[in-house]
Amino acid sequence: MIDAEKIRQDFPVLEQIVNDEPLVYLDNAATTQKPKAVLEALQHYYETDNANVHRGVHTLAERATADFEAAREKVRAFINAKSTKEILFTRGTTTSLNWVAQFARQILQPNDEIVISIMEHHSNLVPWQQAAQATGATLKFVYLTENGELDMNDLRAKITDKTKFVSITQVSNVLGTINPVKEIGQIAHEHGAYMVVDGAQSTPHMAIDVEDMNADFFAFSGHKMLGPTGIGVLYGKEELLNTFEPIEFGGEMIDFVYEDHSTWTELPWKFEAGTPNIAGAIALGAAIDYINTIGISEIHAHEQELLNYVVPKLRAIDGLTIYGPTDNSKRGGVISFNLAGLHPHDVATALDMEGVAVRAGHHCAQPLINKLNTEVGATARASFYIYNTKADCDKLVDALLKTKEFFNV
Ligand code: PMP
Repeated sequence: MIDAEKIRQDFPVLEQIVNDEPLVYLDNAATTQKPKAVLEALQHYYETDNANVHRGVHTLAERATADFEAAREKVRAFINAKSTKEILFTRGTTTSLNWVAQFARQILQPNDEIVISIMEHHSNLVPWQQAAQATGATLKFVYLTENGELDMNDLRAKITDKTKFVSITQVSNVLGTINPVKEIGQIAHEHGAYMVVDGAQSTPHMAIDVEDMNADFFAFSGHKMLGPTGIGVLYGKEELLNTFEPIEFGGEMIDFVYEDHSTWTELPWKFEAGTPNIAGAIALGAAIDYINTIGISEIHAHEQELLNYVVPKLRAIDGLTIYGPTDNSKRGGVISFNLAGLHPHDVATALDMEGVAVRAGHHCAQPLINKLNTEVGATARASFYIYNTKADCDKLVDALLKTKEFFNV
């Protein structure tokens, strides 16, 4: 079992008072806080090893390159990819998914189809809309059951032999729904389509095995798993990555450059044009080390425990609606809710006055929010991570009750 009180001590940012109250940080689906080990990795890199990677022969360049590539190996092991050739460093999930949608443009034809779900984050929706518009392909949506789960009958009807790409989030950043991406991948593959998984909300919270999942592409962000912003990952199967052209061109990714044409270097560098986020990658490696010492399965179990503790207390609040699965085991540590008679922005502002940080808005998922019939087109959202405690849950519930009292709703 996780000792969240002890873990909190590794996170300097959590030790502060906000609006005269100890900070309760419940906006982890947006971004997570950073442990000292990650902050030290950044500092150490810039203080002792800072150099450009891959080209230099001097000692600092060799150290920076070794640490950068060691971070790639940590990522590979963390998601159980076969080879570091399959691990591309990007700016984050958004860039990773944009790259896949750019790969798609290299092969999509008019009349081809792309299947995504209505619960996708805009970053797994807009790039596909753009790819469809550019190629004449059609974008189709899978809708949800009343419970906020993917309607698998609809999914089976939508995926056909015309489908070339299926791209689905493993965990919804709004509803928390955990989607059966392995099973969806099997259906996609039966129809000859590629399976793309948005792992932004799953990778920080549950064990990921891309081999077992058999995803063709898998995307995630460092900052949602204790790492810095500006670093993320695109996993792609080696044999597939070899068939696609790079998205960006320039230094680092070439083999030979002639006046009239160029050739590309090998994977994974073929896709990593320009100086990468070296410090970010190394610090992501430190974040993975930190997560591994705690154990990803323990993290998942901890969040399930918090959900089981707080959801009944939230449901007991008069006028509070929780969106998404009723069965907590089908939900990650994300709870979207509304209080009747109050705009979620007012709820979030009132909670902030109690030191409780939650998010309010459309959570970059407007088509989903439109389907939820929230009246105001927004929800408030509390989301957990390893340093959250039952005391944080109690504080959330107390602050919501105070908010109701204050606004008299
Ligand atoms: N997909 C999901 C499900 C997300 O929750 C997010 C971040 N909110 C993203 C994609 C985009 O991640 P980033 O902003 O780090 O690129």
